[in-house]
Amino acid sequence: MTTTETTEAPPAWNKPPPNIDKDSREFWDGLARHELLLWTCHTCGAQYWPKAYCIKHENEPWAANLSWQPSSGRGKLFAYNVHHWAFHPGFKDEVPYYYALVELDEGPLISATMVGRPPAAGDVGKAVRIAYEDHPEGFTIPHFEFVGD
Ligand SMILES: [Zn+2]
Repeated sequence: MTTTETTEAPPAWNKPPPNIDKDSREFWDGLARHELLLWTCHTCGAQYWPKAYCIKHENEPWAANLSWQPSSGRGKLFAYNVHHWAFHPGFKDEVPYYYALVELDEGPLISATMVGRPPAAGDVGKAVRIAYEDHPEGFTIPHFEFVGD
């Protein structure tokens, strides 16, 4: 399955592909290197996901004061929901799956499916970290897993 150390080859990808475009290519390239990148302001240090202009001051044209920088990949479970229905046939063998909203240690909220132990009532606020699922099709899918239990 998925871990932060090594990843076994998953089955062939049979789901809709990730939406990788010119604005997110560098983010997805970071995932392939097992780095969770956050859009970072060089003026004040604020971090964002997804891309945004820094809300704390004026920005340089074309967001020249911002770039993608590595994060800790750690945070806490902010909320989650359980999906019992597969909206695409590629997910039918994975239901129910757990979709988490994670508050990263750096501040931004980001969402991904949980792997490992599924969340339960009382898990909101518990520590999680990113887990990477590499695909030979050329992309890496981020997940989150609990830390320390
Ligand atoms: Zn800023």
